[in-house]
Amino acid sequence: MSVIVIGAGLAGLATAFRLSQAGVDVQVLEASAFAGGRIQPAFTDGHQDLGPTWVWPYAQPVITRWLEDLQLELFDQYDKGAALIDRDLTTSAQRHGLAFQYGSARIKGGTYSLINALLDKLNGIVRVEHVVNSCTLKNKRWQLNVSTTPTELNALCFTSSQIVVATPPRLAAKMLSHDHGAQSDELEQAIQILNATQTWMAPHTKVVVEYETAFWREQDLSGRIASQVGPLVEVHDHSGPDGTPAALFGFAGASSHSHNNNNEQFKTAVKQQLQRCFGEIAPDPLNIIVKDWAFEPYTTTAADRNGEGSHPKVLSKIVRKSHCENTIWFAVSETSERSPGLIEGALSRADKVADEIVNAT
Ligand SMILES: Cc1cc2nc3c(=O)[nH]c(=O)nc-3n(C[C@H](O)[C@H](O)[C@H](O)COP(=O)(O)OP(=O)(O)OC[C@H]3O[C@@H](n4cnc5c(N)ncnc54)[C@H](O)[C@@H]3O)c2cc1C
Repeated sequence: MSVIVIGAGLAGLATAFRLSQAGVDVQVLEASAFAGGRIQPAFTDGHQDLGPTWVWPYAQPVITRWLEDLQLELFDQYDKGAALIDRDLTTSAQRHGLAFQYGSARIKGGTYSLINALLDKLNGIVRVEHVVNSCTLKNKRWQLNVSTTPTELNALCFTSSQIVVATPPRLAAKMLSHDHGAQSDELEQAIQILNATQTWMAPHTKVVVEYETAFWREQDLSGRIASQVGPLVEVHDHSGPDGTPAALFGFAGASSHSHNNNNEQFKTAVKQQLQRCFGEIAPDPLNIIVKDWAFEPYTTTAADRNGEGSHPKVLSKIVRKSHCENTIWFAVSETSERSPGLIEGALSRADKVADEIVNAT
């Protein structure tokens, strides 16, 4: 038995790891130049995240178990001191004892530590810059038409008895929108549902701002800002466990990507907002990194970009079933019954898909 996993985000890598632990011959094809998908570090030291930051261990047993297996640790999101309310451009931000989401925790070394830990265990079976264009079932084997990037000139064909599609929902549907050769009404229904499902967080812009010190902590501020004027609508402390390296992160909200054509102007606006909110205690940032997920070709389609960005609902169980006599599964986080769209969903789905593949043999 051989399995090809399409997509080296958390769900794809974790599925591949569980399969390889069970002795299954598995390889992973990833379109972009790096593994991780929506999990990306802001800087090379990996501490700050351009994608997900928080997990909630009190309510998320799956990530808690995976962190133990991979020997990774958590620390609490820093939230001591007052938050700032940023109401308008003319008055200074006001201190407020705003309640924060209970139990938010971060992975030591940054969320990308999860990806690095899995890559270490997967020993070179992940092929990056391999874009899967289409999947066709012929004689009970899946044939994958693959282009190697960046030139996208080389067309390759991979074949496998079983495939796991771990790409964002609409990209999975697109891959199977050609003549896939499978006579299955349920697969058709699953493709339609995936085509109507937004990638969670796709329309958002995340900004990481690095400072010499976590100056806000010395002023009994948590680093948190809730803003009605932006450009960042919410800001949080994003420093390492002991306050170093010092950083904040913020979200620019779902409809902010008009800045995409002028990153420098956007960064200046972010800097001005932080100076307005913190006042004279705010030094110049060392670095501002902007990640606009709305323009990530292997995360976001035009329909995702223009969606409202609401939290995903649990999809019909048809997307969680295997199809075509146990030869194709969907594994992206949005297909999970538990915490769809979240890290917990990606890992929960990986556990289930890997178990089903092993049990189906
Ligand atoms: C800004 C932001 C903040 C977030 N915050 C949180 C948070 O605090 N907590 C939380 O739990 N979750 C959060 N999330 C969600 C979390 O990132 C996702 O749940 C998780 O990373 C999804 O992993 P995945 O593997 O299912 O999908 P993805 O990470 O999307 O992986 C899919 C992979 O498929 C690849 N791919 C796509 N098309 C092809 C193709 N044709 N051929 C080959 N490969 C392809 C992609 O390049 C990608 O690597 C956040 C997401 C974002 C963007």
